[in-house]
Amino acid sequence: MENKLAGKKHKSHSTVIKIKDTQIGSNNFTIIAGPCALESEEQIMQIAKTLKKMQVKIIRASAFKPRTSPYSFQGLGREGLKILNKVRQETGLIVETEVMDVRDVKIASENVDILRVGSRNMHNFDLLKELGKVKNPIILKRGLSATIDEFVHAAEYIMASGNKKVILCERGIRTFENAYRNTLDLGAIPVLKSRTHLPVIVDPSHAAGNRKWVPALSKAALAVGADGLLIEMHPDPENAISDGKQSLKPEQLSQLLKELKAIAKPMNKILN
Ligand code: PEP
Ligand code: MN
Repeated sequence: MENKLAGKKHKSHSTVIKIKDTQIGSNNFTIIAGPCALESEEQIMQIAKTLKKMQVKIIRASAFKPRTSPYSFQGLGREGLKILNKVRQETGLIVETEVMDVRDVKIASENVDILRVGSRNMHNFDLLKELGKVKNPIILKRGLSATIDEFVHAAEYIMASGNKKVILCERGIRTFENAYRNTLDLGAIPVLKSRTHLPVIVDPSHAAGNRKWVPALSKAALAVGADGLLIEMHPDPENAISDGKQSLKPEQLSQLLKELKAIAKPMNKILN
């Protein structure tokens, strides 16, 4: 089936999503960084300050956590949203967080700037439709085993419900390979960019599962035409509540940003 709203036939020029003084899409290469989970107000304020120093404008942090085990930390929930709103007000950063439940869409949309649909929810059509009713940009992550066609159709659900501000995020798919957490499907980037007019970003952290591979995958994402990155960073990854192993340390993120800048320049891309 053809993609009516997400497809190039509907709109031939690239969608640029404006959030405060930042833009996602076109010749921008946007960095979204922060911890896997929002752990406490102190933690997130410290990370926000670190990111500001690095001139990163968008912070990620999940208040709702989709965990493999129901006994693992599930996130700070709605209390966490209040903390994220405080971060937004006190630091001026653009705040991004995951929403898992249709019942939380409204409150999340009021407390943060960008909402994220996690991989496990890409097929949650009721959630997608609900996100079509809010004004916030939506980062839609590719499902663990979703084809490109299914991925674009999930975006179509949000758009058909009224919200055209969709950002696609490739985060690695399930394959037979187990040397890393997921297989980053870099081939999907040019395909998505030719098939849709939407910005496409890459999450190298959940693909790699180990911070060792994150810089190489990040640079590859830029080279292959992605519009930005969603990266996990933690000041004390050894003691992070979730995904510490794949989280960059602040100095590693800072180094990576320098390297990305050097690659972006001859590509006429602006790192922001
Ligand atoms: C995340 O970004 O925090 C996350 C849970 O990732 P994914 O949905 O891609 O597994
Ligand atoms: Mn994570």
